[in-house]
This record gives sequence, C-alpha cells and structure tokens, in this order.
Amino acid sequence: MLRTHDCGKLRSEDLGKRVTLAGWVRFRRDHGGVLFFDLADSNGTTQLVFDPEALRQEIDRKSLSETLNSLGREYVVQATGVVRERVPGTEDPRNPTGMVEVLIERANVLSTSKAIPFEVAEQKNSQLPNEDLRIRYRYLDLRRPQMISNLRFRARLFAATRDALNGMGFMEVETPMLTRSTAEGARDFLVPSRIQPGHFYALPQSPQLFKQMLMVGSVERYFQFARCFRDEDSRADRQPEFTQMDVEMSFVEERDVHEVVEKVLASVWKCIYNEELRTPFPRLPYHDSMARFGTDAPDTRFGLELVEVTEIARQAHYEIFQKVLAKKGTVVVCMNLKASLVKEKDQEFAGVGRKEVDRLIDWAKQQGMGGLTWMRCTPTGLESNIVKYFPDEVRRKLQERMGAEVGDLLLFLAGPRMPTLKAGGALRMKLARDNALLEGKGHHFVWIVDCPLFQADPVTGKLSAFHHPFVRPVEDDLPKSGDMAKVMGQSYDLVLDGSEIGSGSIRNHDPKVQRKVFKHLGMSEEAIEREFSFFLEALEFGAPPHGGIALGMDRVVSILLGCESIRDVIAFPKNKKFQSLVDGSPAKVDQSKLQELMLISIAEEDKEAE
Ligand code: ASP
Repeated sequence: MLRTHDCGKLRSEDLGKRVTLAGWVRFRRDHGGVLFFDLADSNGTTQLVFDPEALRQEIDRKSLSETLNSLGREYVVQATGVVRERVPGTEDPRNPTGMVEVLIERANVLSTSKAIPFEVAEQKNSQLPNEDLRIRYRYLDLRRPQMISNLRFRARLFAATRDALNGMGFMEVETPMLTRSTAEGARDFLVPSRIQPGHFYALPQSPQLFKQMLMVGSVERYFQFARCFRDEDSRADRQPEFTQMDVEMSFVEERDVHEVVEKVLASVWKCIYNEELRTPFPRLPYHDSMARFGTDAPDTRFGLELVEVTEIARQAHYEIFQKVLAKKGTVVVCMNLKASLVKEKDQEFAGVGRKEVDRLIDWAKQQGMGGLTWMRCTPTGLESNIVKYFPDEVRRKLQERMGAEVGDLLLFLAGPRMPTLKAGGALRMKLARDNALLEGKGHHFVWIVDCPLFQADPVTGKLSAFHHPFVRPVEDDLPKSGDMAKVMGQSYDLVLDGSEIGSGSIRNHDPKVQRKVFKHLGMSEEAIEREFSFFLEALEFGAPPHGGIALGMDRVVSILLGCESIRDVIAFPKNKKFQSLVDGSPAKVDQSKLQELMLISIAEEDKEAE
C-alpha cells in the first residue's frame, strides 16, 4: 500500500507515530511560512503541517518546501511524517482526526489536477453548484463526503438485503438485458441487431416475464438486483434506468409475499439501524387510501385525514356547494387542521393566519380546484365569512363529524370525486410541510391492497392495466360479463413515507386467464400472438401458482437518507432531461455504425436536417 493509515484514522493514541498518508489536497493555509494542508480521502480528512523549525536537521527543507508549494487543489499526494498534537485552541472537535496533525517530513506528488470546476469540500446543500455541473463532473462530486457516504449506505443496504434473501433460501438469478419488446406499460429502449438487420432487442422494463418463466422452471424462490429501463418522458425524480430488488416465489399467496418483504426489511433495519422494525405493516385497501388520504401512496406519519362531508354540505344554502353537488359524482371533503398539531398556537386559526388561508385558497385554484372554503372553530361554534349560509344544525353536524375543537381550522374542497380527493391529498401534504408535521416522525410502511385490476379511461372507457397485465384477478378468473373496471386484482403496493417503493402481485399462471386479460386490454389475437406467444406457451407447460414484488431501491435509499432526489444516491445518474452528462450520452454515432445496423435512413434524414 502507498499509505500506512487512511485519512480518517489518526487519533491522540497515535501521537509520535511515523505515518504515511495518501489523498487529495483540499485546503491549504499559509501562516507565516508554516503551511497547513487538509488531506482527504473517502474515509476522512487529516491536517498536515509543514513546520520548518520543528523538522529534524537532516531533512531537506528546501526541496520539501518546493514540493509543497507546488501543490494545487485536488492534487494527489503521498506524505510521510510524525503525528503530533495540535496547538491548544486549534483542535477541531467536529472532525474525528481533529485533535492531531501530521508534521510532514516527506511528500511526493502522485497526481496533479486541473483547476476544479467547483468546491469538493463538504458544504451546505444551498452552496452546491448547479446539478448539471455536478453530474458532468460526477467523479469530483463523488469526492464530497456526503456523496461517498450516500453510496456507502446504499452498498450496506444492498448487502443486508442480499444476505437476508440468501438466508431465506432465495436464489440470485440474472435475466437477460437484451430482450423482446413487449407491452409492459412504458415505452421500450430498442437495441438494433447487427446480425439480424432490421430486428431489435429491447432493454427490459423489468425482468417480469423472465422471473415468471423462472417459476415455470422450478426456481421457486428467485431474487435479483435488476436494472430496469423505461423510455418515459422525464418526470421529476425519475431515471430512465433504475434498480429494483426483484423477487418472485412459487406456491404463494399475497400474504406470503408480504411476509417475505417484511422479514427482509426487518433484517435490514436490524443490520443498519440496530432497531426492531414493527411488522406486519398496516394494510390499507386502495379505495380507503384514496378516500382518506387522496392518494394511493399515503404518508401515514401524521393524521389530517380527508373526511367526506357531502351529505352534510348538501344541507347548507351555500351556492358554491349547491352548484357542485347538483352534478353527479361530486363530493365535498373536509380536513381539520387541529390547533394541537401546529406549532405556533398563538396565531389565529390553528397557527394559520388569514393571509396564509388566502394563500391556500390561491394554491387550491392553481391545483385546478374552484377554490377552498374555510371555517374556524371558536368558543361559539364554527365561524367564517360564509357561515351565514350554513344553518346552526349544519354547522353543529360539521363540527361533530370533524371533531373540531376551539382553535381548529376546517378546510373544504368540492368537485368531482377523484380530482377533489387528489387535490385534498395534495393540500394535506402541503399543510404537513408548511407546518412541520413530519419532523421527527421516523418511517412508516403501509401496504396498499385490494387494488382494481383495470382502470378505465374517463373519456374513451378503454381499459388499461392498473399495475401490469400479469396480475391475477381476485376470483382467479375474470367474470364473463359486467363492468371490468370493477374487477379487483391480487396486487399490492408498498408505500414508505408517502412514496410508492414497491409493487407486486399474484400472477396469472393459467394461460387462458392471461389471454382474457390481454383481450380486455384491447389486444387483438394477432398482437397477443406476436408479443406474448413465447410467454403464454411457457405457462402451458405446468406453471405453478406464483407471485412476487419489486422494490425500487434507488427510491428506498433516497428516502432513508432524506435526500431530495434519487439522483443523489446513484453514482452516475442522468440529469432531468435524461442526459448522462458525464459521458455525453445520448450522442450521435458515426454513419458507418448506422450503415452496419441498416439504420442508414435515419442518418440520411439527419443529414438533410443539417
Ligand atoms: N415487474 C413489476 C414492476 O416492475 C413488479 C412486479 O410485479 O413484481 O413494477
């Protein structure tokens, strides 16, 4: 090794030892001929000092001084010297090596560095350069202690997960990256075949069909940290390639899959936090989740639930509610921002002043809602600018239904059911953020169960899969007739702190049922044959009942670390436009390559455009 210790190792116990360190020069200060350097590696930072007067006679001060004076930022240096105490008063208790420094006797430049485009030393998030620059020079960004510790946490989490699954008899199996393009939900990334011109592979959106075929192949308990590729439009906090912990099991029912995931996470918790994770996780039916939280990925760390008050609201003479409720499928939902929930109790309405209420009303309008109605609870009952339209009896019922106490603020939204619930869910999260309701709340897992099998387009009525097309209907088969949008599927999502982190289901192991599902999704016989005949055929060779799940590991890691974006837990992420700035992809390729792949017409079009 080029060093005896790493840069995070030295402590007071090491005083007097002669050591060799190697790392990057981060800061340098000159105190009247005495030079100080912070030398950093991924383990920490150690202060080096060049103090000519303290050096032994035989050391060539001039050449040492020359070497040290030539050091630029982020040069890689090997330095040998003796560990000594820092001058009293100059210790740095925040740094584990902060009680000592190394008196340099010898230094050797291992590598020089160009001028760095941004500061690598740890700094507050607000001082970071823009993210594109960080991604462009990701290898420098990774030197920041925060980024290294993110990657280290990720690696530990993966290792603990793998250990847990291995311990439970799961077999790690790799599945192909070059696969057939099938309709799994998103758009595929296509890869042209050179050997079979005009033919394409697709990068897998997930290993779904392969893991199901592994079950036909008697693997029984499979897992894989799988790379998945989806050519979606860029959306906040998505990546076109991401990593799933992918699991599939034979001869199981929903609860068995849940239990495995709970055991894995409990074991990971123990390993990483040395804490017991409370299992089983609560199970919330999809429709309840929508009604109570306005989303299928509810943050259950705080209350502030939505309550439907349509029937009470109908009894008011309030024109806005009357108009909305005259239409079919409309609701009035209410939320009680309790005075006891918010921090500054001395303010008007549950810590939310009139101006803030006005801001909330504006916000609701931006969300596409007609507006927001509010009432506050006073010692004499509910008050607001519109209570005159609410007879005493109606106000009393509302107060009772909402459990409103003095100081509480009631907020009402009215409109078509789903959009109103969703807006309510968004308002709930806004209130939680604005009022710091999430602070110190730990982590909450919840299963969303009893999901529909299909969803119908509100305009065309066309069915699409609620999860994906391989979910088994709840009765193991589809009804012969009736409203297919009402059929439930044996699928589930796992939600952590208000983000969906995983999704899975029991599958159609009966090829006849699988075919019916495809048909209801609007696929013609030819399309089914073309895209899925290989898979349906596999199911015809004695497929065992099976099911599984996949957890989005990038998201899990970023939630547990409290990162703002999943890009912060991925070594080389794509930016918001899905460009990989570090290697400049996607990029144009040589015409000769296109020719070889018989994609030349694209190249010609490109040329014409130029
Ligand atoms: N393949 C599914 C997905 O990527 C997960 C599963 O159903 O196991 O969402």
